[in-house]
Amino acid sequence: MSSAASGTLGAPAIRADLLSDTVTRPGFAMREAMATAIVGDDVFGEDPTLRELEERVAELLGHEAGLFTPSGSMANQLGVRLHVRPGEELIGDSLAHVLRAELGAAAVLSGISSRTWVSERGRFRAADAASLMITGVGPYQVCTALLIVENTHNFGGGTVQSLDEIRRARELTREHRVAMHLDGARLWNAHVATGVPLADYGREFDTVSVCLSKGLGAPVGSVLVGGADAIAEARIWRKRFGGGMRQAGILAAAGLWALEHHIDRLSVDHARARRAAEAMAEASPGSVDLATVETNIVIVDVGAAGWAAPEFVAEALTRGVRSYAISPRLVRLVWHLDVDDEATDHAIDVLTSLLARGAAGLGR
Ligand SMILES: *Cc1c(COP(=O)(O)O)cnc(C)c1O
Repeated sequence: MSSAASGTLGAPAIRADLLSDTVTRPGFAMREAMATAIVGDDVFGEDPTLRELEERVAELLGHEAGLFTPSGSMANQLGVRLHVRPGEELIGDSLAHVLRAELGAAAVLSGISSRTWVSERGRFRAADAASLMITGVGPYQVCTALLIVENTHNFGGGTVQSLDEIRRARELTREHRVAMHLDGARLWNAHVATGVPLADYGREFDTVSVCLSKGLGAPVGSVLVGGADAIAEARIWRKRFGGGMRQAGILAAAGLWALEHHIDRLSVDHARARRAAEAMAEASPGSVDLATVETNIVIVDVGAAGWAAPEFVAEALTRGVRSYAISPRLVRLVWHLDVDDEATDHAIDVLTSLLARGAAGLGR
């Protein structure tokens, strides 16, 4: 409804915006919480609402302290910065957001090199990390200083990571004195999908980043959590990176509201994603592997129905469904707060008919 109203002249009205869970717009109650927030200058440590948010998130994740950042990328890059010295390396899977979607920030901002392993849909296995981890090789080879885990895994399709594998990696990294950072942009989804307490995931890592602006629906912001000393250092680096903010309690109020009201309801997004995935799998066998639909993200293999992903995305858009081509044959669909049952029904109609018809069916 609000999406349609924002459609510009000549552009199709969007009825189901599955582009990303970042497209949500804050509702009235969240805006009211923002409008009435008590604020101060956070660079001087004087914003009580921001402090409350940082403490709340740290507590939820089983850590001592938290730091609000304008983006998840900044939270990740501060985490990386804390653990890796220039010339050392971080390791992670080749689909990780830190390695694929932060525009080389670890190299550009911190002089850090990276090595990757190839995963199956982002699924984390301690053995993959073990195969790359190398320490104590003195002045000859690059030393591994940090292991990155992403949960849920974005480009992997909302993949939930196994706590056992994470714990296995923790033992290994402890031996090698390698730090672990969790890119938990969608950790909320993993928590809701599995029932594993957030702190059980959080405690296995030296630092954790979480996004408030994805499924939780806040307009801006992420939080980095860790030990008190680490976060004090991150606060210095945040200012150095240009991320010191003033009356950011306005934004923190949205985050606090989201923590209160938008975590449990993620299960509704998961159910809608599954319903759509089942419909597509039935309409076009081979398009969706239902075993891979674990949270709010569905990856569709439109190539199996003869489509090139960008063409499929364009055709769906003319019918009011926005999606994202993540590779030449894969399309990503993301459910969130602003996609209700009616929008899901519309998306199912459009996507299943495009898939069933195949690219040839358009008569082009
Ligand atoms: C969105 C996202 C981030 C952070 O993105 P920003 O756009 O910088 O807020 C980090 N990691 C993952 C896995 C994400 O999906």
